[in-house]
Amino acid sequence: MSTRDELVFVPLGGVGEIGMNLGLYGYGPPEHRTWIAVDFGVAFAGPDLPGVDLIFPDITYLEEERTNLVGILITHAHEDHFGALIDLWPRLRVPVFATAFTAGLLTAKLASEPGSELIPVNVVAAGSRFTVGPFQVEYVNVAHSIPEPNAVVIETPLGTVVHSGDWKLDDDPVIGHPTDAVRLKALGDAGVLALICDSTNAMRAGRSPSETEVARELIEIVGESAGRVAFTTFASNVGRIRSVAVAAASAGREVVVVGRAMRRVIDVAGELGYLDDLPPFRDEETYPHLPRGKVVALLTGSQGEPRAALARVVDDDHKTVALDRGDVVVFSSRAIPGNEVAINRIINGLTERGIRVITDRERLVHVSGHPRREELRQLYGWLRPAIAIPVHGEAMHLSAHARFARELGVPAVLEIENGAMVRLAPLPAAQVDEIAAGRIYKDGTIIGDIDMVGVPERRRLAFSGHIGVALVMNERGDVELDPEIVLTGLPKTERNGRPLDETVMTAVLGTLDSIPRPRRRDPEVVREAVRRSVRAVVAEAWGKKPVCTVFVAVV
Ligand SMILES: [Zn+2]
Ligand SMILES: [Zn+2]
Repeated sequence: MSTRDELVFVPLGGVGEIGMNLGLYGYGPPEHRTWIAVDFGVAFAGPDLPGVDLIFPDITYLEEERTNLVGILITHAHEDHFGALIDLWPRLRVPVFATAFTAGLLTAKLASEPGSELIPVNVVAAGSRFTVGPFQVEYVNVAHSIPEPNAVVIETPLGTVVHSGDWKLDDDPVIGHPTDAVRLKALGDAGVLALICDSTNAMRAGRSPSETEVARELIEIVGESAGRVAFTTFASNVGRIRSVAVAAASAGREVVVVGRAMRRVIDVAGELGYLDDLPPFRDEETYPHLPRGKVVALLTGSQGEPRAALARVVDDDHKTVALDRGDVVVFSSRAIPGNEVAINRIINGLTERGIRVITDRERLVHVSGHPRREELRQLYGWLRPAIAIPVHGEAMHLSAHARFARELGVPAVLEIENGAMVRLAPLPAAQVDEIAAGRIYKDGTIIGDIDMVGVPERRRLAFSGHIGVALVMNERGDVELDPEIVLTGLPKTERNGRPLDETVMTAVLGTLDSIPRPRRRDPEVVREAVRRSVRAVVAEAWGKKPVCTVFVAVV
């Protein structure tokens, strides 16, 4: 350890947004740091990014620092924590550490994406301690809404950091163990320099209910239903899947699994023993053969995803699964902000067909996997960190968390943004640098920045369409053939009933006439003059300026 050594933290994603978590810890003198990354997550694109499948943190900085990056620690297998590995790991090729369930789900996902490169994973378990470069790492079990969630503890000669990951306190989780309070208290007693902590529910007072209370509610719902009962939940919530299976068994019903993502998780969880002592899960082919009072369906699509099983059932578009008047659908999930419209479409579709819908608004059919304020209070009490940095939240969650941490007496609470490099040690903590942090987008098979994948132009096209004009001229500057015009995504007629393509054609011919012949020999002049006049007449007729492309061939 040299006297110039520092311990720094830089989030490249997940701060100011819920999604694409990626935190970096650096150790060493400022000109030669060794890095370790915690989590490698994605975010999902909304309608403002038409055609984009996934959003990743921009890892340009990590690519430059690749030889100084000693490993990637994955806390748990939610997409916002490990979803970027498949696409971005090949750019880094550094060791990955994760638990058996996370590794199993990663392998299963890779298998379903042909052509993907295998990612070797060093499998670790809660309680494991291991050394990666200058970092002594420990995985500490926490409760959350997926198997094997962990906080990671990173020890350096300059101090110990606890990176909470996603967690809650639950004395009675359906699978796994409660958050390891004994270990966390011991860490606090030994001295914690910094806590980098989940802010998702920092605006909510009290404590979140236990997963076991949800399990009881599900038993009641199945018990009081006469027709079919269908549950939709996050595919990765194995505890909830287990509770559904227990509720079904208690009413003498079979569970039918509908949807690939759900099947994949059940297979991986089953291999690791998380679904032991339950009757077997049935495939969807069994569904039509089971009497209505003997079936519980477990479907993907709780977020209203149009291609998932539930949406297909609502649209009567599913091969084997149908629901009828008198059946019940339970959303054992929460609406992720931005998905409300899609979810309401499903709920309305079901309701119109006489199917009863139960959501977490009327009954305790879902609990969050994130800590509310009393749970945060408990963790801060155990760890008593010198520094708190709220992460995993939008601006409002981060600032509520920061205010609360100050109330709890944390000496230094830092509110930062993605890209901020914060020195944690030696104290005092302070922002010392800034790294270009941003987003990159996966669009089909291409990954790039927003201009590179063409989203701004695609938005313009979605708003106002496209006009193509093809002209064939001769070397003297005369039109050889009649112009060709193609209007895509425009109104057919103007307000006065005149076909819009006629207006465009008149403008094209008029413009050609108006250009003096010597100038018409220059294809560039013709192209630009026609483009401008077409956009102008359409703007006059329609009030919008479409994208216009003019092709000029000279023969
Ligand atoms: Zn999570
Ligand atoms: Zn998360």
